[in-house]
Parts: sequence; structure tokens; C-alpha cells
Amino acid sequence: AAFQRIEEVENKVKSFLTITREQAEAQARQVDKKIATGQPVGPLAGIPTAVKDNMCTEGIRTTCASKMLYNFIPPYTATAVARLAAADMVLVGKTNMDEFAMGSSTENSGFHLTYNPWDRERVPGGSSGGSAAAVAAGEALVALGSDTGGSIRQPASFCGVIGMKPTYGAVSRYGLVAYASSLDQIGPFTRDVTDMAHLLNVICGHDPLDSTSANLQHPDFTKFLINDIKGMKIGVPREYMADGIHPQVKERLREVIKKLTELGAYVEETSLPHTDYAMPAYYLIATAEASSNLARYDGVRYGLRVPDARDVVDMFMRSRSQGFGEEVKRRIMLGTYSLSAGYYDAYYLKALKVRTLIKQDFDRAFAKYDVLLSPTSPSPAFKIGEMVHDPIQMYLQDVCTIPVNLAGIPAISVPCGLVNRLPVGVQLMGKAFDEGTLLRVAYTLE
Ligand code: GLN
Repeated sequence: AAFQRIEEVENKVKSFLTITREQAEAQARQVDKKIATGQPVGPLAGIPTAVKDNMCTEGIRTTCASKMLYNFIPPYTATAVARLAAADMVLVGKTNMDEFAMGSSTENSGFHLTYNPWDRERVPGGSSGGSAAAVAAGEALVALGSDTGGSIRQPASFCGVIGMKPTYGAVSRYGLVAYASSLDQIGPFTRDVTDMAHLLNVICGHDPLDSTSANLQHPDFTKFLINDIKGMKIGVPREYMADGIHPQVKERLREVIKKLTELGAYVEETSLPHTDYAMPAYYLIATAEASSNLARYDGVRYGLRVPDARDVVDMFMRSRSQGFGEEVKRRIMLGTYSLSAGYYDAYYLKALKVRTLIKQDFDRAFAKYDVLLSPTSPSPAFKIGEMVHDPIQMYLQDVCTIPVNLAGIPAISVPCGLVNRLPVGVQLMGKAFDEGTLLRVAYTLE
């Protein structure tokens, strides 16, 4: 059924960079065989799943939507994907994204655009736009994305699906191609909160192959789907309801607040005073880490290598010039600049200090509240081409999502109605490793 749907809509949506029909059919046959022979099957048996193309899949092309990796076939599989496979899911394909996850619209893909299934003149969001569009269009039941500054939550909001960025360290990053290692986290896209709980049960957990993965026992997340939030304390940071937020997005949020109050939660305004500094701190830290992480693409070890180079330096330079797109180059330059002698203390180190202040804002808020509530994105999906030539405007798309990555805490985007006939999401932010409480609240909003 998933492939039938892909045949019907993929030429209109273009969610995928690689469709893995053969492998999927082999996986599905294995599940059938297990069932026929009375063997136990995993909790995701037969579930058609799409995976963002920055997670390594053994034997299956993994490009990060970059010409630099157009021919890269990894010799191993990312832990998160391996865990899904062990749960008997069926991989239907690898999804389109902004090149190396840098962007908010999937327009920075080195290969093609992805179209928002709700309105093909609009972007699906990004950088995990392909995964969000695939789930929204019914080409996959669930998908994985990665979120460095909002890349799961914002496309979930734009496409009317649920997206979660788990706590930093909850899901192994082994095999996730690094963008900004201290911010990157893998998480699911689903159509409902119950599916989200099942996916988290499978992908969360310690991995000896990722030293930043947390060594703790995660609860059974389905236990939080209880439809009861009486007495829960919810804060709404006023900095997230500022002028840049579309008035109708604020209206949808007020409706959510009303509903939560009716269900017995205490909702009140609060403040995260350093929010304004999150954006500049993020773009210093993320680009600094990216400039270092992307140094490995030199034409020697992976992917693209230009022919007829004069010498090795010429080969490095021309391979990188040809392989990387505009936005990736911009970020490598920004990051290299802020890490260079004389600027390190003035920019990079300052940004790290600001990051601590932002984390402390959240610590103070969570001493008082169980969850925090905000819009996911300032507006519904924008038009293709509307922002792609204005990087700062594009960066501002992430004002509501970026602080969460800087603090390492979990957050979920849940659809909360329409604005101009387009879906928008509400963001719930939680304490570190308290994904369960986010699911509990999200469940009452479906
Ligand atoms: N849009 C943000 C950026 O371009 C976030 C991207 C992401 O979360 N991967 O950095």
C-alpha cells in the first residue's frame, strides 16, 4: 500500500532521494515468514518507514542531499535505523533534506525541491522536509528526521504531523552524519501521539558507539498516554509570543491554552529572559561545529572527487568548491571565521556563555513548570522561493525551536489547527529525559 501511494503522489511531492523498494520487499517477506512460522515479531513489524538521508544505511546511498556525497554508500547502518530494523520495520526510502541539514525549507537540497502536500506552491519546511512530507502524504506511516535547531519540529508544523526532538543523548547519533554535534538529535515524525510513543520506545537507549548517548533506563512511553493532565503546571514564555509571530498562530495557541485549562492544567505566562540571544549564539556554535565536521569532505575519503587535479591541494579545493552548495559554504566560512585566532574569544566563547544562560533560563522555569508551551514556528509554510535569497529571514524561522537545542531538552510539535488553510503546530518543551510528560500533554491535544 505504501508503494502504491508513492506511485500515486511522489511525482507531486518529491519526498524521497532514494526509494528502496527491493530492500523493503525483502524485509517485508522476512516479517511474513516470521509470522508464518510462528516466530515472534518486533513492535514495528511491517511498518513502512522513511529515513532522512543523513542517516547511514548499509548498502543504501546516503547523500545528505549534497553533491559531495552523491555516490556515497555507507558500509554500516546508523544505530537509530538499526534499532528500527530490529523492531521489524520496513524501510521504504531515504528522504530529501536541506544539504547537510542546513536550512528551514528543503530548498537547499543539492538535488531537487520537496513540495508541501497541503499546497504545492509552498515548502514543507526543513531541514527534514522530505520526512515530514512523506508522512503527511501517506508515503510512509512514520519517519525519522534530525533536529539541530528545529529541523524536525518546524517541518512537522508546516506539514500537519507530529515531530519530536528528544533530549540530547536520548537517541544515539552513531551513523548520523554530523552537522553540529553538540546540538544534533534524531527523532520521529508520526501521525499521532501513540505512534510517537512506540517509536521512542524503539529508538531511545544507550549505545556504546556514541559516547554522548545517555546510559539510563527509558520508561515505556506508552504508559504516559492516559488522557489526564489535571493539576499539571504549564508555562507560556512571553518571549515566544512576540511581535514576529503571526497573529493567527497566537490565536491557535490561545485556543490550546483554553483547552488545557479546561482539562485541569494551570497555565500561566512566564519569562525566559535570554531568548533573544539564542539565535546569534546558535548560528555561532552551529557554524563553528559545522566548519570542523565538514572538513572531512576533501575528495579523498568520501564522495565527489574532481578529475584532472594539478596536485592534492588543487583537488581538495576544487572538490569542495564543486561539491558543496551555497548555504553550506556560507556556514563553513562563518564557522571558520568565528573559530579563528583573535575571534575565538570574542565570538565562539561568548556564544558558549550565552548558551549556559539560556540553559539556566530553562532550569529556573522547570523548577516551577512541568512543561512550557509556545508556537513551533512564527507562521505557516511559506512559498517556495520566498526566503531562499534572504538567509537571515530564513534563520529567523527557528526563533522558537533553537533555544531547546542549545539547552539539550526535549520538545514536541503537535498540530493545533489551521492558519489560512495551512497547518500550524504548538510546541511543548520539557525537562531533560522527561519525554513522557510531553507525550502525556500532547495526547490530550489530539
Ligand atoms: N534551520 C536551522 C539551521 O539551518 C536548523 C537546522 C536543523 O535543525 N538541522 O541550522
